[in-house]
Amino acid sequence: MGRIYNFSAGPAVLPEEVLQEAAAEMLDYRGSGMSVMEMSHRSKAFAGIIEGAEADLRDLVGIPEDYAVLFLQGGASQQFAAVPMNLMKNKVADYVITGAWAKKAWKEAQLFGEARAIASSEDETFSYIPDCSDLGVSDDADYVYICENNTIYGTKFHNLPDTKGKDLVADVSSCFLSEPVDITRYGVMYGGAQKNIGPAGVVISIIRKDLIRDEVLPGTPTMLKWKTQADEKSLYNTPPAYGIYICGKVFKWIKDAGGLEAMGERNAQKAALLYDYLDQSSLFAGTVRKEDRSLMNVPFVTGDADLDAQFVAEAKEAGLENLKGHRSVGGMRASIYNAMPRAGVERLVEFMDAFERAH
Ligand SMILES: *Cc1c(COP(=O)(O)O)cnc(C)c1O
Repeated sequence: MGRIYNFSAGPAVLPEEVLQEAAAEMLDYRGSGMSVMEMSHRSKAFAGIIEGAEADLRDLVGIPEDYAVLFLQGGASQQFAAVPMNLMKNKVADYVITGAWAKKAWKEAQLFGEARAIASSEDETFSYIPDCSDLGVSDDADYVYICENNTIYGTKFHNLPDTKGKDLVADVSSCFLSEPVDITRYGVMYGGAQKNIGPAGVVISIIRKDLIRDEVLPGTPTMLKWKTQADEKSLYNTPPAYGIYICGKVFKWIKDAGGLEAMGERNAQKAALLYDYLDQSSLFAGTVRKEDRSLMNVPFVTGDADLDAQFVAEAKEAGLENLKGHRSVGGMRASIYNAMPRAGVERLVEFMDAFERAH
């Protein structure tokens, strides 16, 4: 059995080189006589793995010393609660609602304080990013929250909102390390690893250190307090050790590929192949406003649910898998994360073109 082209939104494709390296080290990690899965998280070997991963991530993104990097568990969804628990002083926060994940985060924050929706694109099924150049940010808002790339709907903030001086918190799960970022524009940036970084089970939070506080909402569990995790360098309890090891390998893979600049160019080219095809197709159409298109998740439809289903089934036969759209949107979605090779997108476009000519 060969490998297929996997267009899954997450867990998603990982670089083949990373998987091969992990396979070669599976039984004996660099002379330790054991797998990383069997290793104490307090061992010298694991210290090398987690410290190396953090150093490579800092280097890749350009994370300054006044930001902490935390390797946590519970997925992005756990951070939906951790964000208000750690950041709500006035118990007020402003949310921009651009899709299902932003909405879930907003709902979660309502458990802890007054979470206001200050902009939304729900009126057009989240097919665009609302104008965030002059938001009605609350005077007493503890932070402004966005989901930067909307995995399900295929939109991306290409410009960050004007938060009127409030700290920006961003869920970057599906666009993490896909292009260069200026971390200093964020108070908190976090994402689940399973979209663009590594296996499920790791969530990475990059937090400006002054936002890591002793005073958090009463009742905040020890594990959800960022201070606990920062003080212990993500080793308060057993971390998701094997996942962190794979993330570290992916960071090295991105560095070897030329870093975020090169990754961004590569991703833009891959996405352009698919969007250019969609724009001239008379069968398939993209579902998102052009200027807000994601480089990572590309939803499209034929307009006929039966034909969509036939396309997904035939694509699978041809080795192009997981193209079915999210159950809430229908149609198709191609997720073309960092690790999706250009050849995979080329194959997809060829296949779509052949399908179009046959129908
Ligand atoms: C997948 C996803 C999530 C949920 O991640 P979990 O790790 O499963 O909790 C949250 N936000 C975005 C943008 C996602 O793509």
